[in-house]
Amino acid sequence: MKVLKFGGTSVGSVESLRNVKDIVTGQKEPVIVVVSALGGVTNQLIEMTRLAQSGSNDYEPILAQVAQRHRDVIAGVVPEAMQGQCSAIVTQFIDNLHSFYGTLSLNRDLPQQEQQRLADAIVCHGEVMSSAIVACMIEGAVPHFSPNFIKTRERDGRHVLEAELTRQLIANEWPAVEGIHVAQGFIADDADEHFKTNLGRGGSDYTAALIAAALRADSQEIWTDVDGFYDKDPRKYDDARLLDQMTYAQAQELCDAGAKVIYPPTLRPVAELGIPVWVKNTFNPTVPGTVIR
Ligand code: ASP
Ligand code: MG
Repeated sequence: MKVLKFGGTSVGSVESLRNVKDIVTGQKEPVIVVVSALGGVTNQLIEMTRLAQSGSNDYEPILAQVAQRHRDVIAGVVPEAMQGQCSAIVTQFIDNLHSFYGTLSLNRDLPQQEQQRLADAIVCHGEVMSSAIVACMIEGAVPHFSPNFIKTRERDGRHVLEAELTRQLIANEWPAVEGIHVAQGFIADDADEHFKTNLGRGGSDYTAALIAAALRADSQEIWTDVDGFYDKDPRKYDDARLLDQMTYAQAQELCDAGAKVIYPPTLRPVAELGIPVWVKNTFNPTVPGTVIR
């Protein structure tokens, strides 16, 4: 069993989602697919929150654009028989967002904590919508809701992962894995009060690692928009060389130093169990990529 994580650019357009579908359906073993929001959507959700909090209605055209982009993607990738159902799901989430933003803009004196909880509930919607589309796009895919098993607790005003509880809940969610499963990256739930939380920007990689570790997956694959890790920044150096393999420690060092390829906390849970992590390119899927082990 493998855990495949697809980032925002991989699920960001009709063309890239077609590649995602080919990659997922071409797998010979059971897979859990973890997805980010459509590229740029998380930033837009946060920007709209800021606008609504300032009492402005300027979030409305942005929300209309977000809605239209999801509808276009549904029309381009979801089989016709599923399009109505998929559009209805996404419309429901867009309606939720409308009311969340309306609440924020009309109630600017809400206590700080309530504003923060609304903002956290809002930012979950990117992954909730992208995962609905991916699940509808792939026949037979089983949808899951990550806040049911990715749990955080508030410590010093931050959402901190409840690692052991999360591990147990993931194991309960998947007593066995067969076929294709789809879950949201990034999003989580407060273990005590059940308001929505998240693992931090870029946290979908971490969701995938937590699932891979809890289920002792054979491997984790991070599907992104680059061929893998390079020995130096390929945008700056023409002679940058793609690395076919590296150790967890080497990859961790690059991530800590700011390489944006993997979210820094991701490697620890899989490294502890020796689960290999592949970095692969959705836009160039035949390149083997970099394996971290
Ligand atoms: N969508 C979230 C973000 O943009 C999480 C992720 O992409 O990993 O930060
Ligand atoms: Mg990322």
